[in-house]
Amino acid sequence: RSKSPGGNRLTLYSNEMNEEAMKRLELESYLRKALKKNEFFLCYQPLIDLKSGKLYGSEALIRWNHPVLGLVSPGDFIPLAEETGLIEEIGSWVLRTACKQNKMWQQKGLKNITVSVNVSANQFQQTKFVAEVIRALAESGLEPKYLTLELTESTMLRNIDHSIEVMQSLQKLGVRVSIDDFGTGYSSLSYLKDLPINNLKIDRSFINNLRLDTSDIAIVKAIITMSHGLAVKVVAEGVETEEQIELLKKLKCHYAQGFYLHRPLTSDDFERVLIG
Ligand code: C2E
Ligand code: MG
Ligand code: MG
Ligand code: MG
Repeated sequence: RSKSPGGNRLTLYSNEMNEEAMKRLELESYLRKALKKNEFFLCYQPLIDLKSGKLYGSEALIRWNHPVLGLVSPGDFIPLAEETGLIEEIGSWVLRTACKQNKMWQQKGLKNITVSVNVSANQFQQTKFVAEVIRALAESGLEPKYLTLELTESTMLRNIDHSIEVMQSLQKLGVRVSIDDFGTGYSSLSYLKDLPINNLKIDRSFINNLRLDTSDIAIVKAIITMSHGLAVKVVAEGVETEEQIELLKKLKCHYAQGFYLHRPLTSDDFERVLIG
C-alpha cells in the first residue's frame, strides 16, 4: 500500500499491528456481550480476623468464563474494560452482585461479615459512582458498614481532590474504604493522614517474602505501627505459609487473606466451607 521505498516493511509491520488490533477487537466484542450472556461470576476469598481466627469477610473477585476463550483472568480483561468504558456496567454488576450475596450469607448465619469490592479508576471517577453504591445497598438491603470498597493508590491519586470528596461521601453513608496493593504505588505517607480510609491492604509482594530474616518484615511492621496512629486496620494479602501467618499475628496485623487460608472460592464452595 505504501508508495515509499520501504513499502514492504511498512506493510508487514502494519499487518502485525492489524493482527494485534484484530485480537483486541475480538476480545472487546466478546467482552461487550459477556454481561448479557451471563459469562461473569464472582469468586469470594475469605478474610480472617487474626486475633479471633474467625471469618471477617470476603473479597469479591470477578471471573469471566467465555465459551471459546475459557476462563479469562481479570488481569487480562479489566484493563480492556477500563479502556473501552465497559467497566462502568461490569463494575456496577459486581457491586450489586456482591452486596446481594453478602446479605444472603448474613441471613444464612454469617451475621457480621463484610464484603470487599474492587473499584477501578474510571468507575470511581464517574459522577454517578456514589449513586451506584447507594443503589446496590438499597437493592440488597445490605447495611453500608458491611461493604468495603478497595481502591488503589493510583486510582485515588488520579484526581486527589475529587477522590477525597467521593471518599467522604462514602464515609457519610457508612461504607468502608480500603487502600488496595498498599506500598506499590506512590505511597507518599503525608497524604495518608488526609484520606478518609478504614483499611490498608499491604500488597502481597511484601507478604510473599515475609520471613524473619528479610527487610519486608521491617516494612510490614512499620505499616502496622503507623496504622495504629491513623486508626486504620491492616489487611495482609497473599499469605501463603504458616510462618507468614505466625509472623503477622506477632506483629498484631488485624486481618489476613491468602492461599494458605483459603483460595478464592465460588459462592457454592464458600457456603460449603464456611456455612456448612
Ligand atoms: P487484588 O484486588 O489485589 O486481588 C487479589 C489478587 O491476589 C486476586 O487475584 C487473588 O486471587 C490473588 N491472591 C489472593 N491470595 C493469594 C496468594 O496467597 N498468593 C497469590 N499469588 N495470589 C493471591 P485475581 O482474582 O486474579 O485478581 C487480580 C486483580 O484483578 C485484583 O487484584 C484486582 O485488581 C482485579 N480485579 C479482580 N476482580 C475485580 C473486579 O470485580 N473489579 C475490578 N475493577 N477489578 C478486579
Ligand atoms: Mg483487591
Ligand atoms: Mg490487592
Ligand atoms: Mg493486587
